[in-house]
Amino acid sequence: MSKIFNFCAGPAMLPVEVMQKAQAEFVNWQNLGCSVMEISHRSKEFIEVAEQAEQNLRNLLNVPANYSVLFAHGGGRGQFSAVPMNLATAEQSAAYLLTGSWSDGAFNEAEKYLNAKIVGRTETHDGLVSVPKLILNEDEQDFAYYHFCPNETVEGIEISELPQTGNVPIVADMSSNILSRQIDVSQYGVIYAGAQKNIGPSGLSVVIVREDLLDRARDTTPSFMHYQTMTKYQSMYNTPPTYAWYLAGLVFKWLKANGGVAAMEQKNIEKAALLYRCIDESDFYLNKVHPDFRSRMNVGFHLADNKLDELFLQQAEKAGLRALKGHRIVGGMRASIYNAMPLEGVSTLTEFMRDFARSHG
Ligand SMILES: *Cc1c(COP(=O)(O)O)cnc(C)c1O
Repeated sequence: MSKIFNFCAGPAMLPVEVMQKAQAEFVNWQNLGCSVMEISHRSKEFIEVAEQAEQNLRNLLNVPANYSVLFAHGGGRGQFSAVPMNLATAEQSAAYLLTGSWSDGAFNEAEKYLNAKIVGRTETHDGLVSVPKLILNEDEQDFAYYHFCPNETVEGIEISELPQTGNVPIVADMSSNILSRQIDVSQYGVIYAGAQKNIGPSGLSVVIVREDLLDRARDTTPSFMHYQTMTKYQSMYNTPPTYAWYLAGLVFKWLKANGGVAAMEQKNIEKAALLYRCIDESDFYLNKVHPDFRSRMNVGFHLADNKLDELFLQQAEKAGLRALKGHRIVGGMRASIYNAMPLEGVSTLTEFMRDFARSHG
């Protein structure tokens, strides 16, 4: 098999070393004669896996001691419902910044549970999408929380600046950029992320919650989504997604062995710069996001002549470059280049793009 680079937006590629390790110990884990997925989540062996994963994640992100780290069911969208139910009553309001598909989705879900208010939206100037200033004024301090999505996976929009919200806790959906750049966790109330972009298999989500927010949940919050209950039971109120948790743990070890988040960030800057340079250097490819908000993780681009889209995708596939088709609502192409994507994958893609532009420009 010749080399394949998988640019899927999610579930996305995982580090090859992690997959090989999981494969090597799939049937006989730690000489127990069975798989890690065949043992009790309450066994001392699994509890060690769980605790190590949590500790490594805490180290990687410098999570302060006054935050709970939860390994939850239900992916990213599970948290679209869990956040309003855990942080506010039905009578309260919460602020939502709308910047693309995922923050729209979070807003629509929140509307079922409370008074969700839109406090800003993306704007288009000269054909380029940008994000307005993220500020809550003094007369907007009654919101239970401020929700935003720092990386819009579909539209390829990333917000690197932290919103200025005063005393209103910030809730961030980091599903597609967690662990890709350094962050100051102490600035957030809740950080959540579906695992399948930068952490591990789908179905799992990681939730990081500041302790003083744990007692705000409404009584009707389902127990398996209830942050305080989940904290009390160390994410084992019901059977957790054990295999996904184990795999996430292997990814955290891989990250540590590869220099941690700071090293990932440097590598991600380099990968993204390489790809955007290739897009910008000719009129053959276009990107429609303002340079200040271009995502390092999901790089969208259009062919100026969209009649060539199908051919581009076919030839890319033949060259071992998988899953470059853009999301159906934006069209064009999208290369998702999360932590696990090596620089070589991006340079192979840019070589292919230049060749394709030369032959068809
Ligand atoms: C993928 C994604 C989600 C949804 O995750 P599911 O696990 O499918 O629920 C939510 N938010 C963002 C930013 C995503 O990229």
